[in-house]
Amino acid sequence: SELRLLGPAEIRDLAELLDVTPTKKLGQNFVIDANTVRRIVRVAEVQPGDRVVEIGPGLGSLTLGLLEADADVVAVEIDGRLAEQLPKTVQQLAPDAADRLTVVHRDALQITELPADPVRLVANLPYNVSVPVLLHFLEHFPSLRSGVVMVQAEVGHRIAAAPGSKVYGAPSVKAAWYGAWRTAGAVSRQVFWPVPNVDSVLVAFERHDEQPGDEALRLRTFALVDAAFQQRRKTLRQALAPVFGDPTSAATALQAAGLDPSLRGEQLALADFARLASVPVSPDA
Ligand code: SAM
Repeated sequence: SELRLLGPAEIRDLAELLDVTPTKKLGQNFVIDANTVRRIVRVAEVQPGDRVVEIGPGLGSLTLGLLEADADVVAVEIDGRLAEQLPKTVQQLAPDAADRLTVVHRDALQITELPADPVRLVANLPYNVSVPVLLHFLEHFPSLRSGVVMVQAEVGHRIAAAPGSKVYGAPSVKAAWYGAWRTAGAVSRQVFWPVPNVDSVLVAFERHDEQPGDEALRLRTFALVDAAFQQRRKTLRQALAPVFGDPTSAATALQAAGLDPSLRGEQLALADFARLASVPVSPDA
């Protein structure tokens, strides 16, 4: 059933009521456009009864859209004023949906448990922490099957990038550990208040049926990824020397994984990094 979603006037009134000045530090840019909200919910293919986790609900723009789609929503908000107001806003605008919303007042990066295991992640993420928040939730909530997030355009293209692409980097490889990613459309900066000075993009993921390996392999893989991209322009033989002890040991490991030591990190897919991470290293190598 159609709900009254938040437009420019409602957002202004709520901000005034709460006496909130949106802070840049918390990435507070609120969506003031119902079409954008409905578009995100549609791209996320939210089904009635879905347990959705939303990170950073703010004044509730997207939360109301998720409730309109008959989802059960757990919303994690770091800002106490916003967390406290959200149930009241929903009670006022969508009283019938109020019992499908749970608000958790916490830093999303500190959350390792939720009242119910979420199946979808849908969020307009705080831009300064979007990648760590995404990776954190994928790591701690294996129940998450899919999701759609709005992020800064640059970051979104990086997350969804394939090996060899100019923007391919550590976030691309780490995200690929968990699932398949695609960008799902640009979003104008005009749909926000205040208007941010960057463009946005929607990014969608589907979790892999099976993860590439266990926790030990993930940690080892991510360490290699960090080293490889920290020194982007160096060959892997050089960039991975600190991890393997010296350039010669790095070259030996790379060859054992079937990889040319003169390649650069941006040429390796997740599977290559994971294979390299599983090469046994002899203690006296
Ligand atoms: N979802 C709302 C919307 O679409 O209008 C607000 C999105 S705004 C870009 C990001 C929100 O995330 C803000 O409400 C901010 O307070 C919140 N936030 C920032 N850092 C956070 C964190 N570490 N954990 C949880 N929420 C956070």
